[in-house]
Amino acid sequence: MQEAPPSYDAPSFPSAPPSYGGGAPQAPPPGYPGAPPGQPGVAFAGPPQPGYPSPGPTNTGPTGPDVMDNPGMAESLPSAPSLDKMDDIGGYSGTSFNSVAAAPPAYEEALQQGPPERGPITSVPVINEEQAREALQQFVSQHCCYGKGPVRQMTFRDLKSSSAFHYMLETFSESRSTTWAYEPFVGQAIDGPQYGPAPGPWDIQAEPQVKFQDAEKHLEVPHTASVKPCHTCAGVCRVRCDHCHGNGRTICSTCGGSGREQYFHEGQHRHRKCNYCHGDGRLRCFRCQGHGQVPCKSCNAKGQLKCYIKLTIKWKKHMDDHIVERTSLPDDLIRSVSGQTAFEEEAPLVWAVTHFPDQTINQASRQLVDRHRTAYNMERILLQRHRVRIVPVTEVISNYKGKDFNYFVFGFENIVHAPDYPAKCCGCVIL
Ligand SMILES: [Zn+2]
Ligand SMILES: [Zn+2]
Ligand SMILES: [Zn+2]
Repeated sequence: MQEAPPSYDAPSFPSAPPSYGGGAPQAPPPGYPGAPPGQPGVAFAGPPQPGYPSPGPTNTGPTGPDVMDNPGMAESLPSAPSLDKMDDIGGYSGTSFNSVAAAPPAYEEALQQGPPERGPITSVPVINEEQAREALQQFVSQHCCYGKGPVRQMTFRDLKSSSAFHYMLETFSESRSTTWAYEPFVGQAIDGPQYGPAPGPWDIQAEPQVKFQDAEKHLEVPHTASVKPCHTCAGVCRVRCDHCHGNGRTICSTCGGSGREQYFHEGQHRHRKCNYCHGDGRLRCFRCQGHGQVPCKSCNAKGQLKCYIKLTIKWKKHMDDHIVERTSLPDDLIRSVSGQTAFEEEAPLVWAVTHFPDQTINQASRQLVDRHRTAYNMERILLQRHRVRIVPVTEVISNYKGKDFNYFVFGFENIVHAPDYPAKCCGCVIL
């Protein structure tokens, strides 16, 4: 069971975006007060997970009968220490060896001021016949098997210029989760509970290096570390070899352990000594070199572990977009070409666009802004930005040898989309 996050009596959400300069640690943004000393952590109170493997070393017991040699067998991975051996850290009592997400502190959507002042939307230039022909010439020259006739001889019947609109919303968020972690103890510093109460997951300072870029950071939660005997080897530093079950040898798989192999000679089955095990029927275990034991991997043969609570911080950019394009040009093509940025805004929480001349864009903005506001409830929104790009699209209606054909010129790069070009001789695919 998860405990509801404490309700912070937060002041309004900061109007300036958090600063992302690297270097010295910075104060937390307003609206996210640090927990007072001794306050329990934010998420995840709850009983330790039932059914967790019982404590104690797993493979240090007596040896069994010889097993078949199997060099391809995977080595077993070390299990985790027992949860009942972990210290009870205030605010982290439900932490396990699986990552547990920490619900972010609540914040008020302080949008009372209303959207910022927004300037007028400008339109984009349109192309003329000469540019339409040049674009097509360029396109034809890039396709070796396209005939040059139509582009030279075609006449223009009409140029229909329009604008495609591309709305993009990006939300940059942060999520935090905690887990018990361990590493071999080699004498490193131990920051244990005796140094004070552990800060809650959201009270630990961490800033992303670059805004609107996915990243991940791992930190040791202060005052949670301790030294424990290794759960795998019980402090012995070596464990039974899981390949030979501690016997130091395995059954020869070539002769099945008989030490002999069969062959056929002069119409008769005969036997001779197995070449592989030289008649022993057994092989020295390749993994433990015959010792029956291998160094413990959990503690790197040190016998002790440093256990601590690890905080994982993930920064993520969520992106959604919407394209309004009203000709038969495939909409997706608009995404990859350049246009004019008619509107751009960045804020901790943006307001939906309402002033764009095309209502479909305003509607898409409202839907996407609403969706982003609620979709990532285990993440804290740090920053949002959105923009509308206007991409020029010209539909060219031309005539070649008495027949009409249409093509499109779009984007500031004057990219051509001409699936009906009249002189495609070898039927190669248009890219
Ligand atoms: Zn060990
Ligand atoms: Zn053999
Ligand atoms: Zn072995």
